Order: sequence, then C-alpha cells, then structure tokens
Amino acid sequence: MSKQILILPGDGIGPEIMAEAVKVLQLANDKYSLGFELSFDELGGAAVDKYGVPLADETLARARAADAILLGAVGGPKWDKIDPALRPERGLLKIRSQLGLFANLRPAILYPQLADASSLKPEVVAGLDILIVRELTGGIYFGQPRESKVLESGERMAYDTLPYSESEIRRIAQVGFAMARVRGKKLCSVDKANVLASSQLWRAVVEEVAKDYPDVELSHMYVDNAAMQLVRAPKQFDVMVTDNMFGDILSDEASMLTGSIGMLPSASLDANNKGMYEPCHGSAPDIAGLGIANPLATILSVSMMLRYSFSQVAAADAIELAVSKVLDQGLRTGDISSPGTTKVGTAAMGDAVVEALRSL
Ligand code: NAD
Repeated sequence: MSKQILILPGDGIGPEIMAEAVKVLQLANDKYSLGFELSFDELGGAAVDKYGVPLADETLARARAADAILLGAVGGPKWDKIDPALRPERGLLKIRSQLGLFANLRPAILYPQLADASSLKPEVVAGLDILIVRELTGGIYFGQPRESKVLESGERMAYDTLPYSESEIRRIAQVGFAMARVRGKKLCSVDKANVLASSQLWRAVVEEVAKDYPDVELSHMYVDNAAMQLVRAPKQFDVMVTDNMFGDILSDEASMLTGSIGMLPSASLDANNKGMYEPCHGSAPDIAGLGIANPLATILSVSMMLRYSFSQVAAADAIELAVSKVLDQGLRTGDISSPGTTKVGTAAMGDAVVEALRSL
C-alpha cells in the first residue's frame, strides 16, 4: 500500500526550500521504490489567506490521515498585526498539539566541510554531533491561563503559565534516554530546578526514568549554564533533553555552532513515530523571494523522515551522503559561504543534491 506524505510549504522561504526538498524526495521515491504519494496543502499565513485560519479543519484531517508530514516554515510580517488567535504560528502550535507530536528531535551536526562557517573556533566544534530532544506540546507555549490585560491602575500586564505533568515529562525523558542509548550513551537533562517548580518535578521524574536506562549516563544542568556550555565546550554533550521553551532557545543557539540554521533539520514525533519533519529555521522574510535561501535543512528533514517514520535507512543515508558530496564540491548558499567556495542559489543547491543522489 502506498504511503501518504502531506507537504505544507508554508510562508516566506517555505515554498522555495520545499520545491527543492520535493525534487529530492521524488527522486528518492523512484530510486528506492518507496511507494510514496505526495499531496499538498497550506499552513500558517498561506492558510490564513486561503481558508481564513492558520490551520483549516480539512488540512488537519489530511494531516491525521497522512503517514508523515513535511513542513517548510510559517510566519511573516504580512500577518504580524492580525488577531493573535489567527497568527501563522498558532497553526503550527495547533498541528503539533492536535497530532500529539510531543518529541522534537533537533540534531546539530557540524559537517567538516563547514568548519569555517561556524562562529566558534574550528577546534571547539570539529566533529560536533549533538541531539537536542525538546518537549513540544506542553509547557509555557500551551499553558493556561495566559492573559494580557489592563489593571485598574491603568498599567498593562500579561502572564503565561508553565505547567508540566508527570506523564508529559516521563514520555519525553524516555525518548531522550532511548536516543542516548543508540548514540553516545550520555544524556544531559536541562532545567531551571533552582527556581521553577515545574523544573523540580522535571528533574525528579527524569531521575525516576533513569532507573530503566542504567547504561545511559545522566547529568543535569541549569539552562543558563547549558547556554554557556554550548558555546564554551559543546562537544561535552551527546543528547540533551529539555522542555519546550528551553529547547526552542538552546537548539537555535546550537544551530549557530554548525554554521547556519539553514543546515538544521528536525523531526517531531508522536508516540508511534508518526512525524512531522521541518527545518529548524523560520520563514526568513528578509530573504524570501530572492532565491538565496539554503534548502539543505529541508532536504535533510526528508532524510530524517525516511529514517524515523519509514525506516528507509539506505535512502536516508544516501540523501545525507548526497548533501555531503555537494558540500565537498564547494557549493554553498550565502549563509554558509566562505572564501574559496562557490556561491549558489536555492534551486542550484537543490539540483546539485538531486544530481549527487542520482549518481550514487
Ligand atoms: P528565521 O529562522 O526565519 O530567520 C533568522 C535568520 O536566519 C534570518 O536572517 C534569515 O534570513 C536566516 N535564515 C533562516 N533560514 C535560512 C535559510 N534556510 N537559508 C539562509 N538563511 C536563513 O527566524 P525569525 O527571523 O526570527 O522569524 C521569521 C518568521 O518565521 C517569524 O514570523 C517567525 O514567527 C517565524 N518562525 C517560524 C518557525 C517555523 O515555521 N517553524 C520557526 C521560527 C520562526
């Protein structure tokens, strides 16, 4: 039976980078006889324009029916001033929570060819390979109550709520330990347990889960220290597990160690490994329409999809090898270019990966 993949290009550079990822996916589909059927829909601002909401019910139904979802990015200045409930990012949060995609895997791998593009010294980042496991459907981005109001005094105030239940912490901790088990067997849990009640529960539950993974070495780190250690000595980390907001921030920080956020894919999985795959970056409105965005994060998201949702390891490996070969050829989009390399646009980079994959 064919496998259904729903493609949601989104906004800004989303459609540009997705066009390249789809070329690679279609070639992999043919070359490895994967039996995928692709369908397309809108999410975010594009969905606001088409359906009046950032995630239409019919799109959500298609996403539920699909075996996997590939997403570009959402958001942009065009929709910044609309009703907050209709903002593009709301569509993203809703699809993640409605599909129960609680485990966000964000690898930060430094391709040796890009050592010069990192903001840190090559010896600090050479060989970097970190996996950040971020809780994605709980915490402060979803917590209720949340409110913005005007006090009787006339002063404006706003607050959010940071809730975590034991079961939410346990299931993401289990993903963190499971990932560490098949990698370097080291898990660092990041929290703010010196201040936050939710973090104190987080730490206690992670300790409990650790008993089931005696082969994995567990450490804890406060988020402020983790932010510092990531730029001081990032290679001390193997797998990091953390909550929604801390993971959002730390994974963007980790991305810069690898040269560009344009290189980083991500997977968001439910309890059965059904997933939505997307680059870690946003819709980059500053470069949208210029044909210069880096499509590699989205192409590498295709490879994560093949690996995690479909267990197509050979095809996933081949896409990653094709990306590496293109970097070997010296081709670079602007965000990762350095002296002596050849600057190319989005489509040329996508075509080069297609050619490299075809020739494997
Ligand atoms: P961003 O990731 O879009 O851009 C940050 C910087 O990185 C920009 O200078 C951009 O040009 C650059 N960049 C990002 N992706 C790139 C790529 N593939 N190639 C080359 N350069 C790239 O973050 P932002 O500027 O904070 O947010 C812009 C919009 O994206 C906002 O509306 C935000 O809400 C949204 N956003 C969406 C997602 C998502 O869809 N998952 C994630 C983050 C931000």
